[in-house]
This record gives sequence, structure tokens and C-alpha cells, in this order.
Amino acid sequence: MKLIDGRAAAAEIMAEVSAAAAELRSAGTDPTLAIVVPTRDEATAWYVRSIERAAAKAGVSSRVEQLDAPTADDISGLLRRLSADPSVHGIICQTPLPDGVRLDEVTGHIDPGKDVDGANPTSLGQLAAGLPTFAPATAAAVLELLHREKAELSGARTVVVGRSTVVGKPAALLLLNEHATVTVCHSRTAALPEVCADADILVVAVGRAHFVGAEHIKPGAVVIDVGTNPTADGGLTGDVDPAAAEGRAGSYTPVPGGVGPVTTALLLRHTVAAARGEASGS
Ligand code: NAP
Repeated sequence: MKLIDGRAAAAEIMAEVSAAAAELRSAGTDPTLAIVVPTRDEATAWYVRSIERAAAKAGVSSRVEQLDAPTADDISGLLRRLSADPSVHGIICQTPLPDGVRLDEVTGHIDPGKDVDGANPTSLGQLAAGLPTFAPATAAAVLELLHREKAELSGARTVVVGRSTVVGKPAALLLLNEHATVTVCHSRTAALPEVCADADILVVAVGRAHFVGAEHIKPGAVVIDVGTNPTADGGLTGDVDPAAAEGRAGSYTPVPGGVGPVTTALLLRHTVAAARGEASGS
């Protein structure tokens, strides 16, 4: 069993991003990521600080736009202003949103050319059509790690557990665009362990600690664990039981240290790509 090292992958991506950011700056462009934060939430604040630190390390400027109890119109208006601002190249809008505000009401106001986390429904549509776009960074991180593992995607039996718009669905579309045979599972899937146990590549994005056990894992499978669940001691654990993965998988991503660091690095890779005027970044 091989542990897939997300931190090492992220460090390599960050080195590429640093070089690209330096090139942009010497040509007079300061690559800039705007982070819209519509609620005051401790977990979000921690995540935003981690993006800011990574951006600073890569030479990408970040600009946090903290809002207090905004309406959908307030958030949409800010996203439109940032979209029109030539000094901003990438825009992300953090969740959770205030009560009563739906994600799809606001993300449609992000210019697709600056939509570095693939949140605008137009970006997801481009992805579904197999056209150039920024994919959601977490879904892109799943593919990045599979590519780095040199996993054979064409024709591979692949199961994605979770169908959210931010992770499961775009990960399934990215896999399909690379000719994998993709099954998407969710809370109504019958005989889920048997479906999963048929997968050469198993991607899990459920949000339940250690939801996947040995019975879900085909011996030798590549297992990508997207889940980040808080533990009692203030840490994080994944959706896959590490002991089960150790015993059955061919390789798997640990939590922490798997998909998470690659996600942040890809947000920055997408931002420098947007600053170069490219329509996709991964
Ligand atoms: P989400 O929106 O809550 O979606 C969870 C998905 O899991 C849903 O499709 C749900 O099915 C499915 N599900 C729930 N219970 C299930 C069950 N018993 N059996 C089968 N499927 C079940 O969550 P998300 O935003 O996709 O995030 C998933 C996890 O990834 C979370 O732990 C989150 O923290 C983590 N995450 C990590 C990163 C990163 O960078 N590492 C980024 C984003 C998210 P239904 O659709 O039927 O309800």
C-alpha cells in the first residue's frame, strides 16, 4: 500500500505557481485573488488564512472581502464589482452563506474568466460540455493526484461517492472527460458497499468520518479521500477508515495531507492562469 503525498504534490505545484507569478509581475501584472467571505465562521476564517499564507508564499496577492450579514444582492453586487475590476484576476466566494442565501443565486455573478473555483453554473456547464473552463479546485485536485499517480483513467471502473456541485459532480465530469467509466453514488444508492468494491478508482466525498470501510474497497484500488471531518482533539479525519485503506487499497490519500493542500495550490495555479488570460488552469 502506498500513501499518496498531497503535501509533496502541492509543493511542486506551488513552485510552478511562484515562477509563473514572478514572470507575470516582471511583465507588470500583480496576480491577485479576491476571497469573498460572507459570514463570520471560525472554520472559514481558518481556511481563508491558510489560502492567504499559501498565496503570499507563491507571490500571489490576496484580498479578503469580509461582509457582515449581507443579502444575496450585497454578495452579488460585490462579485460583479470584483469581476469588473482589472486588478483582480481570481474570485472565490466562501461558504457557508448567510441563512436564506442560495449559492446559485450569487455565483452566477462571478466572471467565468475569473471563476478560479468553478462556482458559476456556466463553468460547470462548460465542464459538462468538455469545453475549457476552471473546474472546482477540489475536483481538479482529485484528478491532479490521479495523474501524478499515473493511474490509468481511460476505461477504468471509477466510483465517486457524493454528488455535490462543488466536489462529486465536477469530479465525475472530469473523470468522464478522461474516458473513465464513472458511477456516481449518493445517499439513495442501493448496495453502496458492493458498488464501491467494484471500483479500480474510488473517490469519496461524503462528509462522514470513516464512512468507507474495508468492504467498500477493491483490493489494490486507488482511493482518493476528499472528506475533511473535525475530530474531538481539534484535528481532521477523512471519510475513509485509514486502517481499512491500509489493509486493502493499492494507494490512498491521507487526511490531512492528501487532497486539501493540492486544492489550495490549484486555486493559486488557476489564479495565475486567469491573470495570463487563460480560460482553464489544470
Ligand atoms: P455535501 O454537499 O454535504 O455532499 C455530500 C454528498 O455525500 C451528497 O451527495 C450526499 O448524498 C452524499 N452522502 C451523504 N450521506 C451518504 C450516505 N450515507 N451514503 C452515500 N452518500 C451519502 O458535501 P461536499 O461539499 O461535497 O463535501 C464532502 C466532503 O468533502 C466534506 O467532508 C467536506 O468537508 C470535504 N471537502 C474537502 C475539500 C478539500 O479541499 N479537501 C473541499 C471541499 C469539501 P445526497 O446528494 O443524496 O444527499
